[in-house]
This record gives sequence, structure tokens and C-alpha cells, in this order.
Amino acid sequence: MNVFIVGAGVSGLIAAFELERSGNTPIILEASDRVGGRIATDLHEGFLLDRGFQVLLTAYPEARRYLDYDALKLKYFSPGAKILNPGSSYTISDPMRNPSRLIGMILSKVGSLSDKLKIRKLNLELTKMSVDEIFDTPSTTTLSFLRNYGFSDKIINNFFKPFFSGIFLENELSTSSRMFKFVFKMFGEGHAAIPEGGMGEIANYLRNKLNHTEIRLNTPVASVEGPKITLQNGEVIDAEKVIVTCRPDLVIDQLKGQFSSNRSVYNVYFSLEKSFLIQPLIALVSDGKFLINNLVFMTDISKSYSTNGKALLSVSVTKPVANEDSLVDLIKIELEALSGINAEFFKHIKTYKIEDALPEVDDMKANLPFTNSKLNDHVFLAGDYMLNGSINAAMTSGRKAAEAVLLSTQNPL
Ligand SMILES: Cc1cc2nc3c(=O)[nH]c(=O)nc-3n(C[C@H](O)[C@H](O)[C@H](O)COP(=O)(O)OP(=O)(O)OC[C@H]3O[C@@H](n4cnc5c(N)ncnc54)[C@H](O)[C@@H]3O)c2cc1C
Repeated sequence: MNVFIVGAGVSGLIAAFELERSGNTPIILEASDRVGGRIATDLHEGFLLDRGFQVLLTAYPEARRYLDYDALKLKYFSPGAKILNPGSSYTISDPMRNPSRLIGMILSKVGSLSDKLKIRKLNLELTKMSVDEIFDTPSTTTLSFLRNYGFSDKIINNFFKPFFSGIFLENELSTSSRMFKFVFKMFGEGHAAIPEGGMGEIANYLRNKLNHTEIRLNTPVASVEGPKITLQNGEVIDAEKVIVTCRPDLVIDQLKGQFSSNRSVYNVYFSLEKSFLIQPLIALVSDGKFLINNLVFMTDISKSYSTNGKALLSVSVTKPVANEDSLVDLIKIELEALSGINAEFFKHIKTYKIEDALPEVDDMKANLPFTNSKLNDHVFLAGDYMLNGSINAAMTSGRKAAEAVLLSTQNPL
């Protein structure tokens, strides 16, 4: 069967893998000069820079299916988070995995005893539910869910808001409560991790699993109309089946206007002589006046992120930035306020502005029937935007699209 896949992100690579497994030799058409899509790591001035801070949650069901964690040499974050504010920093250990540890001296700063009991209750409820069941629950905003569940404003503002803003890449916790519960469950049942050699290793690993797939890089597709693919260079390809894994409205006329703009984030890297966090933790800034949402010393998690012995600091900004030219200076001032280290010591390495980082998905799902992947007899859809913005969803969508293609050749859906 003559199958083309548009896009070599995670969903495209998984679709190719599944097609190969059933004896096909797919061809991937990728616009950029590399595989991995939104997962990428650059080697820059002796540092490994992930294009946007992101983590693999080891409990993701699809990641367990497709990735070999030993081969990726995963490095793990300590569970929990450090809450950083000028003059007051404290560590919340393990709230989503082991709420009993959310006690003692820090509890009064983060929330109340009632919050602790509610976290335990939520933890137990979500442990008993499957991922599919979670995505079948009614959807409200995460903020409404937390308030209705009875969490205090204190724990919402001190922990949930900064922690989940960094994951959802929005600051109001307006993301669906289904996604919140899914992520909470994943943190509770596994670890946040990065491959030793950067997140891009996930894409390299998936690419290396492909033995019979041709990948044409630097090959942007202009449009897909039924079995006809037109490349931006004007070449026309006749395909039997096409799986479109990039935003389909960009290449399929009939879907134009059906997808809204996506969430963006600034990821700003600095080097410093050494880390000012003691443990390999994500640090959150709960004070709403700060631009910084979270910061992580990548070298505390994986030493390989620096080849020169210096510490590599990743700072994420999810708020809108009025003046991009002053972003680095403003962050340096904030870093000084948070750490007590003179701003001059933070050496700026690189800034990434990542547009379209996560899709806006109204009806977030974990799974989809084969029929949803099929647009018509020739065109099939995959990509995280079909389910929810995560590596797990990208993998599910790629698998489902491949299965739909295979099924359509046996009996029309
Ligand atoms: C900053 C950031 C932080 C994130 N944090 C996390 C996290 O912590 N955990 C998590 O699970 N997920 C996270 N994600 C989400 C995760 O990275 C994505 O869900 C996943 O990588 C999406 O894969 P995809 O295959 O659906 O899409 P993409 O990776 O976008 O792949 C689409 C591919 O299509 C190509 N393409 C586009 N247009 C064309 C065209 N016209 N012709 C040919 N090719 C084309 C693109 O170049 C790209 O390679 C994050 C993403 C970002 C950006």
C-alpha cells in the first residue's frame, strides 16, 4: 500500500512504526530538517537546550508501550516542587504521589490540613480510575474543579496554579479538569523524567525504530486533496492513503478555520557557576507579580546538559511579555530577587519563543474511535490536537490513524 505521512513529529513516527509492523513501507514528508516536531534538543555553546521545557511522565501508557526507558537513560526529577519567593523558599515533597508527606512545617505555608486530606482523597479516587474513565468525567475548568472539590485559595495559588500553569502553558487554570486529573494521576503513578541526552532523544529513539520508512526532510506539503499531495515546490504526489499529522487546517482546504491558535511559552536559558537548588526539583514562583513561572537547573537532573561543568538553568515564562527586548534583563532581576545571587552572574545562553506549543482542545479525550481518524477514503488525521496536548496523546493519535488506514483497506469504515 502506498501510504504517505505528513509530519515527522511523535504522532507521525508512531504511525510509521505501526504501518511498518503490518508490512508497509510508508513515506514521511517532513517540512523541517529533522524529525521530532515539537520535541527537539539543540546543542548550543556546549549546552543541551530543549526547545521548550518539557518532561516525559513515565506513567504515560503509550510511552510505556513505545519507549525503552533504559535505552533512553532517563534521569528523574525528585517528586514535588520547590516554591520560590523572595525571602521564603520551601519544598513540597511528593504531594501527588504520597500526600502523607505533605505535612509538618511546610503545610501551613502551602495550604491547610483540609487541603492535605483532599489531596489524599483525590489521589485515591484517581488511582482507582482508568485514564479512559478520567476523560469520560464531565469537563469544567481546572480552577472550578479545584474550588468545587473544596481546595483552599492558598493551596490553589501557592501550588496548583504555578505547577499546572507550567504544564498547561496558561495562567488561569482554564484547561479542562480532565487534563488536570490525567496529569495528576500520571505524576502520582510515575516520575517526571528527561532522557540523559535531552528530550530530542525520544524522537531519535522513535526514528531508529523505523527500518522500512523513507523520511523526506525539508519537504513541506502545501495541500492534501483526497489522494493528491501537492508539495510547496509544486511537485504532485499520488498517494493511496495519507496521514496528516500537522495541523490539518493548514493543508486541507475543507478544514480551514476549524482550529484556533495555540498556546505559547518563552523558554530562556542561563548558565551559572553552580545550581542554587539543592535537589533535582522543579522550582515554582507563586507570586503573580513575577514573569517567571518555573525554573529548573537541567544539569541537576542530567549532568550531560552541560559539557563545560557550568550549571544550565531553564526558565519558563507563560505570561504575555509586553517588551521582548527587555525579557532577559527582567528575568535576571527576578532571579536575583529569588536566589540572592547578583543578576550579573546569570549568563544568558539563548531564548526560545515557542508559538503553537500546545493545542487548544475543547473536548479533551484520551482515546478516539477509528472513525474519528478518518476524514475520507484517502485522508486520515493524527496529532495531539485531536485528543490533548501531550506526548501520550500524540502517540495514541498516531497509532489510531495507522490502525484506521489498515482497517480501511480491509473493510471500508
Ligand atoms: C514547550 C512545550 C512543552 C511541552 N511540555 C510537554 C510535557 O511536559 N509533557 C508532554 O507530554 N508533552 C508536552 N508538550 C507537548 C508535546 O511535545 C506534543 O504534544 C507532541 O510533541 C506533539 O506531537 P505531534 O506529532 O502531534 O505534533 P508535532 O510535534 O507538532 O509534529 C508535526 C510535524 O509536522 C511537521 N509539519 C508541519 N507542517 C507541515 C507541512 N506543511 N508539511 C510537512 N510537514 C509539516 C512539523 O515540522 C512537525 O515535525 C510540550 C510541547 C511544547 C512545545
